Amino acid sequence: MHEKDILISGASIAGPALAFWLCRAGYRVTIVECAPALRPGGQTVDLRGAGRTVVDRMGLLDAVRERRVHERGLAYVDERGRRVAEMSAEAFGGEGIVAEIEILRGDLAEVLYDATRSDVEYLFGDRIVGLDEDGDGVDVRFASGLRRRFALVVGADGLHSGVRALAFGPESEYVRPLNMAMAFFTVPDRAVSDSVAGGWCTVHHVPGAVAELRPDRVAGQAKALLATHTTEPVHRLPRDRAQSLLRDALVDAGWRTPEILDAMDGADDFYVEGIGQVHMDSWARGRVVLLGDAAACPSPLTGMGTTLALVGAYVLAGELVSRVDPVAAFAAYERVVRPYAVRMRKLPPGGTRGFAPTSCAWIAMGRASMRWMTRWPLRLLAARIFAAADGIDLPAYDGLRSAAQLR
Ligand SMILES: Cc1cc2nc3c(=O)[nH]c(=O)nc-3n(C[C@H](O)[C@H](O)[C@H](O)COP(=O)(O)OP(=O)(O)OC[C@H]3O[C@@H](n4cnc5c(N)ncnc54)[C@H](O)[C@@H]3O)c2cc1C
Repeated sequence: MHEKDILISGASIAGPALAFWLCRAGYRVTIVECAPALRPGGQTVDLRGAGRTVVDRMGLLDAVRERRVHERGLAYVDERGRRVAEMSAEAFGGEGIVAEIEILRGDLAEVLYDATRSDVEYLFGDRIVGLDEDGDGVDVRFASGLRRRFALVVGADGLHSGVRALAFGPESEYVRPLNMAMAFFTVPDRAVSDSVAGGWCTVHHVPGAVAELRPDRVAGQAKALLATHTTEPVHRLPRDRAQSLLRDALVDAGWRTPEILDAMDGADDFYVEGIGQVHMDSWARGRVVLLGDAAACPSPLTGMGTTLALVGAYVLAGELVSRVDPVAAFAAYERVVRPYAVRMRKLPPGGTRGFAPTSCAWIAMGRASMRWMTRWPLRLLAARIFAAADGIDLPAYDGLRSAAQLR
């Protein structure tokens, strides 16, 4: 084993972003991903503030811009599809609910994968099942039977992190469920995609549930989000049970929901999550460290998970290349990123009930506040919330600057 052999669990956003920097700084990086291939799926995720700066420092902003989805704003519609409130993307200079750069999560994962695949050893369809650490390394056992030794192990494997469970203890100690099922999938239906024609993210509320359509990069199809309140751990349920829970909540919702529910059954990128947040006192234990959602998932309600993953990956890499002692680097990474992560997990007003109001009166309130959000005094409050993504001074790491120039 070499002191720069590093294993990362999870090939979505945080893992490949960390690998990007470390490979260029001379590390030998292996990424293990439990899915058989890079996972597609997900709606557009926002690239904001410091997250966008990190992508720029990676030299990937052009690749991201090429794939960005052009969203003109956010519109609420009623059961007959009539627009009842809206906010354009320009309302907050590209830093409002719809960010200046919106990219499909699957597209961003692909950009990061393409930028790392020739330098990183990717092991798809496998997972870590055992970690035995001693003074200078970690012996790792994989589900496939493979055994390898690494200097460091990073858990970038999301809300239900396997590394966190092995190194820190059961999920129930760290994951705070938000009691909401949220599903994402593609709707390959031209009629449905026409209802987001013009590029508006379109949202329809019924008491206790939400249906949302966003433009896709591919013409003639759209990305759907469905959500409802539930205490069921939907990510662990069989797919048909998770889907009937969503169907029951939206069956008579009107608008385009019948077509969306039809498309849900056959969607090959259907992804459902019992959303939650991760709260931990420490992100590192010995030679094992957590990153992205595994460490501090803020939940999709904040729109900040991707930015936080990119920022965390940059800082963790920067501290590792700047210090000899990895344990000191983990501590420094946490010192820089934790205050930002804590601010990023602040839920929008009303939390899950603001996102999916439970009565007609609250739905009407939501529509009214959307109309008022671009006006004084709510405008000031909203601008402060959206500006939070900038709330970190990204250190300039010499080791990373030269690493980026190696591209
Ligand atoms: C398929 C998918 C769709 C998503 N869609 C959206 C969306 O529409 N909106 C939104 O706000 N957020 C979405 N997210 C979450 C979003 O990607 C993250 O909040 C954010 O980008 C931080 O990324 P991350 O890399 O830390 O974690 P994640 O994006 O959650 O990635 C974790 C990765 O680790 C893998 N993994 C999990 N367990 C193991 C294990 N035991 N061993 C090996 N690998 C493992 C997963 O398959 C996944 O590839 C989605 C995530 C996924 C995986």
